[in-house]
Amino acid sequence: MSSEPNCIFCKIIEGKIPSRKVYEDDDVFAFHDIAPWAPVHFMIVPKRHIASMAQLTPDDAALMGKIMTLAPKLAAEQGCRPYPDGGFRVVVNTGAEGGQEVHHLHVHVMGGPRPWLKG
Ligand code: 5GP
Ligand code: ZN
Repeated sequence: MSSEPNCIFCKIIEGKIPSRKVYEDDDVFAFHDIAPWAPVHFMIVPKRHIASMAQLTPDDAALMGKIMTLAPKLAAEQGCRPYPDGGFRVVVNTGAEGGQEVHHLHVHVMGGPRPWLKG
């Protein structure tokens, strides 16, 4: 599994930096965001270092499909209520103008009650 020595998420995947793990298999790792934007906020990342969504190739389709299909399963396990009344938001910040700060591809999954929203 390729990793980048200076990448904070590679270090989290390798257990060199502690994290609150949500899920792990051979290809992906999921962990809670250290500064959550929502009551439930975790990230799903490929174990292989991919800098951003901009580096994906057709060979990564199954990997990204796995991540996207894991999102609702893990969201439910983390306490997001079911669709349509509950649900969650998925965000992939990509590049500087996309708001990306950590350059290891990560899929944010955010949900949980948001009392400031109407309805
Ligand atoms: P980005 O802006 O790149 O999409 O999001 C990076 C996210 O990683 C941010 O929401 C930030 O809070 C989170 N983050 C940064 N450093 C760490 C860390 O050391 N541990 C964890 N769990 N999350 C981190
Ligand atoms: Zn990395």
